[in-house]
Amino acid sequence: MTVRAPAKVNLRLGVGPLRDDGYHDLVTVFHAVSLNDEVTVVPADDLTVTVEAVPGARVALDDVPLDDRNLAVRAARLVAARLGVEPRVALRLRKAIPVAGGMAGGSADAAAALVACARLWDEPGVPILGRTELLDLAARLGSDVPFALAGGTALGTGRGEKLAPLPAAGTFHWVFATASGGLSTPAVYGECDRLRGAATFPWPPTTDDLADALEAGDAKALAAALGNDLQDAALSLRPSLRATLDAGTRAGALAALVSGSGPTCAFLAETADHADALAAALAAEDTVRDAVRATGPAAGATIQ
Ligand code: ATP
Repeated sequence: MTVRAPAKVNLRLGVGPLRDDGYHDLVTVFHAVSLNDEVTVVPADDLTVTVEAVPGARVALDDVPLDDRNLAVRAARLVAARLGVEPRVALRLRKAIPVAGGMAGGSADAAAALVACARLWDEPGVPILGRTELLDLAARLGSDVPFALAGGTALGTGRGEKLAPLPAAGTFHWVFATASGGLSTPAVYGECDRLRGAATFPWPPTTDDLADALEAGDAKALAAALGNDLQDAALSLRPSLRATLDAGTRAGALAALVSGSGPTCAFLAETADHADALAAALAAEDTVRDAVRATGPAAGATIQ
């Protein structure tokens, strides 16, 4: 059985004060896009994991751990423990989402593995895991995993794991410019704290303008409402991203921003044709590894 799960871009990423547990409070708007990883599960003697690229995708497979640090492996173990079964499964990951790219690829794999293993071990005498329980397990695996399960567009609060769906009309056209080498999410948050120093900032932010633009399906209004509090920190750690953002703006993107903790950059286009032209322009840039087209919102983890 195969389950696929989407990448995300944060349409707004508001980073709040550092909490006692070491996480930051977030107010974010997640948006799932049509760039999917796939996880296939097959009954096996032991828990194993393999990883390959979706044909045509340029992903840094060497940076994906093949042990218990892999989020799909952790998801399989968590489901097995919850159901009281042995985690006898071969996990086959097919990746299209950039690794350590700020698009939550590991979280997508975890969400797909949760759904796949819950279905694989759905046998008489084994408890059935409903949606609420899967969301609960997802939150234990990571802040972005519940959204990879849910998909669509959603307001995320807490660490990002508390979700409220946001209605969105129509389809938005995106180009994602990947970079060579990832950025560590904790390092980017640390840099954000360092740059802020003792400065005060308004908190919590409002997302009404973004919600209105989504509901109206208005790409120009959406472009004006996008924002990422981690962008300056990502640019500080990877100054070459400025050239990527500027190239997209020069090529006519409605908006250009760093995706999550980066280094992937997201560009909003007006139409599908505009996105094609933007992708071609970005692919020619020295700072861009690959320019990938996608649309949003996209479905969450889905059995194929
Ligand atoms: P985050 O969700 O932390 O913001 P990200 O979206 O930037 O991360 P991911 O592709 O999820 O990037 O990878 C972050 C790190 O997680 C990688 O450097 C890798 O070591 C680890 N990792 C664990 N499992 C996976 C997986 N299945 N695919 C990719 N990376 C994984």
